[in-house]
Amino acid sequence: MSITPQPGIMDIALYVGGQSKLEGHASPLKLSSNENPYGPSPQALSALQRSAATLHRYPSTDHAELRAAIARVHDLDADRIICGVGSDEVLQFIAQCYAGPGDEVIHTEHGFAMYPILARAAGATPIEVAERERRVDVDAILAACTEATRIIYLTNPGNPTGTMIPLSEIARLADAIPDQVILVLDGAYVEFAEGYDGGASLVEARGNVVMTRTFSKIHGLGGLRIGWGYAPREIVDVLNRVRQPFNLSNTQLAVAEAAIRDTGFTEHCRAENARLRVWMRERLLALGIACDESHANYVLARFADEAEAAACDAALREEGILVRRVGGYGFPEGLRITVGDEPGCKRVIDAIARFRGAA
Ligand code: PMP
Repeated sequence: MSITPQPGIMDIALYVGGQSKLEGHASPLKLSSNENPYGPSPQALSALQRSAATLHRYPSTDHAELRAAIARVHDLDADRIICGVGSDEVLQFIAQCYAGPGDEVIHTEHGFAMYPILARAAGATPIEVAERERRVDVDAILAACTEATRIIYLTNPGNPTGTMIPLSEIARLADAIPDQVILVLDGAYVEFAEGYDGGASLVEARGNVVMTRTFSKIHGLGGLRIGWGYAPREIVDVLNRVRQPFNLSNTQLAVAEAAIRDTGFTEHCRAENARLRVWMRERLLALGIACDESHANYVLARFADEAEAAACDAALREEGILVRRVGGYGFPEGLRITVGDEPGCKRVIDAIARFRGAA
């Protein structure tokens, strides 16, 4: 066949998402995709039903009401917000607008699998930088910057590690990177971290920092696909030029607006997650399984080796529990376990204890 794709496209590794089906188990306990175990806010569900009356109408092109609601809740400037089909789409706009053939895009060793995909899709070259002790290493990133670097993608809190680097370290990075580089702070899990604004203050203070956020995690709306970015106005203006005018439907906009306004529900999810992730880590450590303190809605259990992680994964599946193997993220010995509701957390920990012969 003579129809060939653009150079580099066939080098893109297909993204593999968390599994949701398990043979022999009609409704497995799914702790593999960092979803909210409580689902969306009841107010978001009411908005979903009401939005049926608007399906024959085209949606807003500027997302003004959703941006205003986000700005109000997070005390931000609505004009610097851009909304997308998941934060994935906002991350994609950035690569599409600021990186191309000959350019380099930096991501870190245990960073999100989409970063190299987005870099390659834009024709650029992804550059992977090592982390230190499962944490982003600012000095290693600075050492990797070249004249060709255009974007640095960082996840904070990290996925699948759950670890964090402080805002002061991120500010040091933003100060030291070359002028042509945009620092993207992927904040998919920011709401679960205490005392961290995702880098919003840095976005406001500097011209080279962008923050991305999502409705998929704390707001329990992964299935609806809504995310947003916060950036300097000039960058928002650039990104809006490649955004499809109707990228978000009436339903997505209405449900997201109701979800962000329901701050009581958000706080409930945050507090339950904070309590249960500490409990899970303590239980894992007591079972002799390594686990860093997590600032997100998952914990990374590190077993002796890949064989033990695989055996534990298989044992959990037997019991109808899905967690995530994270060999592709540099942890062949790891299982990433989403913090579920209390019964879910107890069930997975009891199953791991049985696997270890401790129950
Ligand atoms: N960044 C990170 C670190 C993630 O883990 C995810 C979800 N897997 C995303 C971004 C994308 O989330 P969404 O597109 O659902 O907003």
